[in-house]
Amino acid sequence: MRAHPSISYDRVLMEGIQDMVFVMDVLPDLTFQYEFMNHSAKNHTGLGENSIGKSLEEVLSAEMASYISSEYKRAINTGTPILYEDSFVALNGERHYSETRVTPLYDETGKCTHLAAVVKDVTIQKNAQKEVQTSSNLLFQNQQRYQSLFKYNLDAVLSIDTKGKIISKNLAVETITGYTKEGLIGEYFYKYVIPPEVSTAVNAFEQALKGEAKEIELTIFDQAQQKMKIVVKFTPIIMDEEVAGVFAIFKDITLQKQYEEKLQYIALHDPLTDLPNRRLFDARLEHALDNLENRQKQFALLMLDIDHFKKINDTMGHDTGDAVIKDFANKLSSCIRNTDIVARFGGDEFIILLELSSSTEQTAISLATLIHHRVQEPTHVNGKQIKITTSIGISIATDPAITAKGIIKQADIALYKAKENGRNTYYMANKSASARLET
Ligand code: GH3
Ligand code: MG
Repeated sequence: MRAHPSISYDRVLMEGIQDMVFVMDVLPDLTFQYEFMNHSAKNHTGLGENSIGKSLEEVLSAEMASYISSEYKRAINTGTPILYEDSFVALNGERHYSETRVTPLYDETGKCTHLAAVVKDVTIQKNAQKEVQTSSNLLFQNQQRYQSLFKYNLDAVLSIDTKGKIISKNLAVETITGYTKEGLIGEYFYKYVIPPEVSTAVNAFEQALKGEAKEIELTIFDQAQQKMKIVVKFTPIIMDEEVAGVFAIFKDITLQKQYEEKLQYIALHDPLTDLPNRRLFDARLEHALDNLENRQKQFALLMLDIDHFKKINDTMGHDTGDAVIKDFANKLSSCIRNTDIVARFGGDEFIILLELSSSTEQTAISLATLIHHRVQEPTHVNGKQIKITTSIGISIATDPAITAKGIIKQADIALYKAKENGRNTYYMANKSASARLET
């Protein structure tokens, strides 16, 4: 049943436009019936002629009908055209976004008899808007991400301008170095580097300015003016394809360095006597051999072995033996110059390297004599007095053709000879000269 007579429409115009046009009949109970829809409306919604004369509720889902009905009522209540936004799923399954303008139409008595709803498809604009929104969200998120990467990074990060002045710092800078903003911002970064390392730091910085990231180790002064070892990466800050400054990203490696040095020390020293071990000795010997070749320097090796040491172990125990070895090592150290090296070769065997420009043989003999006297001074272990002696084999390196192995072998053979000669004596490998010392 129709409440009002049909109104006439310009069909050509209505069917020629792309917007969807619905004309709704307003029933007295304020429900709405489809009275007209143009081609575009039919094509987009799939509704056909059979919808004409039906109510919103009969054609649409309950949810949709209730929403549209409330918007239509709003138009009637306000008495003016209203706009609302909506979305619908088109026949091809794609979601379309729409903007609807609802115009109430009145009869001569001022009664609202019809509504004209013109639905504009704004899917393209909406999607473009959404894209802009998404990319600006992404940009914002990225900015936030970068900011937190800078701010909360566990590594200290300084941003430095192209002149080398510190512009900003993150939280970790203060945690690591103790410097607050006041102590850093506006200062040249190299002010904090120890003087001998300034040029290394500046070189790495300049390399970063040329666009190449560079990682180096440096020593800096922390806020308490203590030296701190850091590993620092100078990374170019590139803006609009130009280097606008440099990030210095660093961490404190002081402990790590100390640990490395400790490990290095352990690797090259004997744990019982704290003397250089065979490995360190070999390196020093190679160096002495190089000097022999290049600078005509000579050197002597003194190979020493405690006489009848097994007896001490056997009669007084291994711990006492250890104490005697330590005491022997200390006595040897006290007899040599700073430039000489004494190393524990293993067991009760030690070796001394003496590097000299001249009188090598004489100096080696004097040292052997001094050692013999010093070693014979009694040692006290656990209240017991212990006296030991040592045998010494000496080899002198004068021939640049000699090898490390060769010169050590000569000293070893000389030691064997000293033992053979009755111990507590030295034997000179290269010469027949040997001396027996008074005990
Ligand atoms: P010689 O006069 O011929 O040198 O006789 P020796 O008894 O000293 O014999 P040798 O030098 O061959 O023996 C060294 C002994 O030192 C053998 C080993 O049991 C002992 N020894 C090796 N290393 C250690 C150590 O770190 N501590 C102790 N207490 N004894 C060690
Ligand atoms: Mg021995």
